[in-house]
Amino acid sequence: MSENYDIVVIGGGPGGYVCAIRAAQLGLKVACVEKRGALGGTCLNVGCIPSKALLHSSHLFEEASEHFDTHGIEVSKPKVNLEKMMARKDKVVDSNVKGIEFLFKKNKVTYVKGAGEITSPTTVKVALLDGGEETLTAKNIVIATGSEVTPLPGVEIDEKNIVSSTGALTLPTVPKKMVVIGAGVIGLELGSVWRRLGAEVTVVEFLDRILPGMDGELVKQTQRIFAKQGLDFKLGHKVTAAKTGKSGVTLTVEPSKGGDAEELKADVVLVAIGRRPYTTGLGLDKVGVELDERGRVKTDEYFQTNVGGIFAIGDTIAGPMLAHKAEEDGVALAEMIAGEEGHVDYGKVPGVVYTWPEVASVGKTEEQLKEEGAEYSVGKFPFTANGRAKAMESTDGFVKLLEDKKTHRVVGAHIVGPAAGDLIAEVVLAMEYGASAEDIARTCHAHPALGEVVKEAALDADKRAIHM
Ligand code: FAD
Ligand code: NAD
Repeated sequence: MSENYDIVVIGGGPGGYVCAIRAAQLGLKVACVEKRGALGGTCLNVGCIPSKALLHSSHLFEEASEHFDTHGIEVSKPKVNLEKMMARKDKVVDSNVKGIEFLFKKNKVTYVKGAGEITSPTTVKVALLDGGEETLTAKNIVIATGSEVTPLPGVEIDEKNIVSSTGALTLPTVPKKMVVIGAGVIGLELGSVWRRLGAEVTVVEFLDRILPGMDGELVKQTQRIFAKQGLDFKLGHKVTAAKTGKSGVTLTVEPSKGGDAEELKADVVLVAIGRRPYTTGLGLDKVGVELDERGRVKTDEYFQTNVGGIFAIGDTIAGPMLAHKAEEDGVALAEMIAGEEGHVDYGKVPGVVYTWPEVASVGKTEEQLKEEGAEYSVGKFPFTANGRAKAMESTDGFVKLLEDKKTHRVVGAHIVGPAAGDLIAEVVLAMEYGASAEDIARTCHAHPALGEVVKEAALDADKRAIHM
């Protein structure tokens, strides 16, 4: 059987499902092929949403265990019911997945359950999950097949003792000792979850810093805060081998720059050294779609691959591997295919680490500005001087704004502090409108609110903060 579509999207993650919905809104006939058996991709099923559900539950547990007393709330020692915590997380995931199915029906997107393979620039063969095959004919094909965990040679993932992020989201018990390989976003978020729930967590990182790519000053303060919380960092080290026995895993760890090896023991090891694009089984070699040296689908600024009518978005192409970036790609591409002006500003994609405090960044870091030889002003303000943060007992961190001295535009913002992931939105919007620090400073911010720290940092760019 064959059916004709304007667009066939392969992959139902945030890139693919958003592209499909936007295209359908614009009147196009759209099918979305997904092989997981659930919509939402990595993000909803094994990424953003389940990790945030566990981050929130474990944060509440830590608040109850360690901080309620400060507020004059007396409770007997709280206990973790991991089964119940995991069941709640699964319920959150399930309701989000069902939400997308509803949106597909509402927008008349055809949901095809199965694995898609591109057999020509206009046809996608689907091996249906229920058995059998279906061929879809399309004027445009969108590759939105996402990414997968980057493996670490010598440290084989079994999702029991040695886990990827997926296994770390479903551990049946709290490990006594956990080693996390990689101090990136996943390592810090999931390392924090299990530390809060009672595990002793050591994070082994190849580089001599955590969160590579983020602003250096931000990262230094963040590392201090996490260390104070109890995360143990082993920076400048790499894991070269792992042996699993009855009493857990023994890792061989060496200094990155060479030196004596040592052993580290753990009940559970989390491998979190990055993700890589996933295009297995798509038939790209047969239709001649080119990949770059890192396995990403090569596209131009219009998401067009080297084969006419085949496009790619999200984690499969260059750029940050973030759900909101994939969504922006999806919307822009749908609009372009429908003949409208789609556009993504990759210089203004925020990145957030959902620990507590949260860490959020957008635009240029100070290191980048220095490298470019740019003249810039820095405005900084700590949460310790904010009434609301004090009322919340959450005063760790600061807001730092970077403004170009010539254009008077805000070109970067770096925040570690309570709700940093929400606070950054104001700065992203300001940057989208080409605002100066003065524009932010002259905007009335509610009191008492955490947003006042952004305002005071903006005032500080002109050395006139009020409360410092
Ligand atoms: P994906 O979400 O990976 O979706 C691709 C889909 O394509 C998958 O469902 C897959 O089954 C399907 N597929 C693949 N091949 C085929 C085929 N041949 N036929 C049919 N279907 C196919 N990002 C954030 O912005 N914020 C966060 O807080 C965040 N947290 C994360 C936490 C974890 C633990 C992980 C692992 C990732 C997290 N991310 C987060 C990253 C985010 O999940 C990804 O950037 C995002 O999901 C990418 O979207 P995508 O649509 O490109 O791909
Ligand atoms: P990452 O790229 O953020 O971090 C990987 C870390 O591992 C880096 O610090 C790297 O230096 C280190 N590393 C690499 N090889 C190593 C080795 N052999 N030994 C020790 N350390 C090593 O990758 P991740 O944390 O796995 O996350 C993958 C992707 O998922 C990221 O692109 C991220 O954007 C996305 N993600 C986003 C969020 C969020 O937005 N909150 C949350 C989770 C994941």
